[in-house]
Amino acid sequence: MSSAFEALNSLLADPRRILLLSHVNPDGDAIGSQLGLKWLLEAQGHQVIAANQDGVPALLRADQVAPGWRELVRNPMKPQRRGNGYELVIALDCSDMARLGQAYDPSLADAPLVNIDHHITNLHFGALNIVDPAASSTAELVWRVAEALHWPIGPQAAQCLLTGIVTDTRSFRVGHVTPALLGVAQRLMEAGASLAAVNELVLERRDVDTICLWGQALAELRLEERIIWTAIPLTMRARCNSIEQSDSGLANFMVGAEEADVALILTERADGQVDVGMRAAPGFDVAQVALALGGGGHPRAAGCTLAPPLAQAAEQVLAALKLALAQQRQQHLPAQQSPAVEPPA
Ligand code: AMP
Ligand code: MN
Ligand code: MN
Repeated sequence: MSSAFEALNSLLADPRRILLLSHVNPDGDAIGSQLGLKWLLEAQGHQVIAANQDGVPALLRADQVAPGWRELVRNPMKPQRRGNGYELVIALDCSDMARLGQAYDPSLADAPLVNIDHHITNLHFGALNIVDPAASSTAELVWRVAEALHWPIGPQAAQCLLTGIVTDTRSFRVGHVTPALLGVAQRLMEAGASLAAVNELVLERRDVDTICLWGQALAELRLEERIIWTAIPLTMRARCNSIEQSDSGLANFMVGAEEADVALILTERADGQVDVGMRAAPGFDVAQVALALGGGGHPRAAGCTLAPPLAQAAEQVLAALKLALAQQRQQHLPAQQSPAVEPPA
């Protein structure tokens, strides 16, 4: 067993009051890893509260994909939840502490903080860090913890973890899907999880307001130096009645454009801040640009939050992307120019 898993095992030697947190505007991996770990820890006799600043997004409010979703709370510090205080805090799917948003209260600093995450930009902010950028998802890391510590995985935990893996890999379509990951998915399905439920209820579904927003955003599409991008001002969201935060489906769709190496979407939030979502085609990397702008992510999917106004945020991120892409194309050149096999003289 690796030392990180052993250290976690020691922290869990006695029944504990544990708080599980994940990132603002949560996705399937944030919710799936949180709820999956909640089921697993409760089966081990711990008392667990799972909390998230923004609650559970609409598509995940379904027992078939996120069993236990009704128990996820937005404010973990209410006296009836806090009880005699949390003895352990676990952050899931967060590359830095700012990602926890208002779900993290400064008084929690008294409890040890465990950081379980798979972002390449993770800042190792925990007292204990279980971080592996090669992992497909945080849910996969939770599965590894359960395996290493010999915790049985019931059907609810299995479903939550499969939901995390499937949403973060867009149903096993991305580069870091390994044979081992397919083996994990197989075991989660054998434990009772449904793959079809995640595909049908989460990945393939969106509401009409979101489709309306896609239409409006796509109508404003621009292509500059192989960056395909669009901006979503609040007025556009209002026209479509779209109040939920952006879904990542549109950026994934846009990066499929043959003429683009990167897709970029800027979304104006109600508080004026600008959410930036980026996707890279194979061979390109947007994680470092996101990190340099105060955000984070993965080589092929990253994001950050910028100050208003929208137009200025767009200029800032476009300039950074153009520079990074020019450098990355330079690095690609020698490999493309020299033939793998020398032609016969
Ligand atoms: P999204 O475009 O929102 O689906 O996000 C893509 C990736 O970037 C995810 O792995 C996010 O965790 C990460 N990400 C998005 N926004 C931020 C941010 N403001 N700070 C750090 N990471 C972010
Ligand atoms: Mn996430
Ligand atoms: Mn993730």
